[in-house]
Amino acid sequence: MKPVSEKNLAARLDQLNERIASACRASGRSSEAITLIGISKTKPAEDVAAAHALGLKNFGENYLQEASGKIDALEGLAATWHYVGNIQSNKTKEVAKYFDWVHTVDRNKIAQRLNAQCPTDKTIQVLIQVNIDEDPNKGGCSPRETLHLAQQMMLLPRIQIRGLMTILSKDSMPRDSYESVAQLFTAIAAKLPADQQRCWDTLSMGMTDDLEHAIAAGATHIRIGTALFGARE
Ligand SMILES: *Cc1c(COP(=O)(O)O)cnc(C)c1O
Repeated sequence: MKPVSEKNLAARLDQLNERIASACRASGRSSEAITLIGISKTKPAEDVAAAHALGLKNFGENYLQEASGKIDALEGLAATWHYVGNIQSNKTKEVAKYFDWVHTVDRNKIAQRLNAQCPTDKTIQVLIQVNIDEDPNKGGCSPRETLHLAQQMMLLPRIQIRGLMTILSKDSMPRDSYESVAQLFTAIAAKLPADQQRCWDTLSMGMTDDLEHAIAAGATHIRIGTALFGARE
């Protein structure tokens, strides 16, 4: 893993912030409503440290083994870590230990395990992954199950359910699919009790190729790898 040069990284971050600002202007939103998560999978800890020095505070990882090494190596860095990979139930303990946010919970069993294994000094912020295109090759719950799942998971005291996350399938239309996730998000909010509505505030969607569509649809968290750290091998 060769570290990205700091000059390249600074230029990419500037360009990316410009893209985000212009997408926000186009849809009448404030850039402050968008949290940029740098997806650092396959990239070395040095890249994360360099991005952090440039002001980025949120990072996301997909592979637990790779992530835990990196997070340990960066101990003391004031960063928020997001887990965005598939979760198997035998990995929940480590995910609960290392991560502040988990974006990819799609069944109650995983939520229950995160709740039971959450270290005592924290609460894990959880998003429900929705398979909006109902693609059999993708993780995520079906849109129809989502409200029920949210209601079940909200009974768990050690995790806080914050909203929805989605990963599109290759052949989906980003604009329509992100719009559908946003509609689902709003429809669920309307059915939650008031105290849970306040915390139902997060829509994680949008990657390098489609962040404009995600921001137009209402994304609050975008997950960017390539545009920030460069292409992956
Ligand atoms: C890799 C990955 C990203 C970032 O993708 P880019 O196209 O490189 O920006 C975002 N979200 C998830 C879940 C990923 O696996």
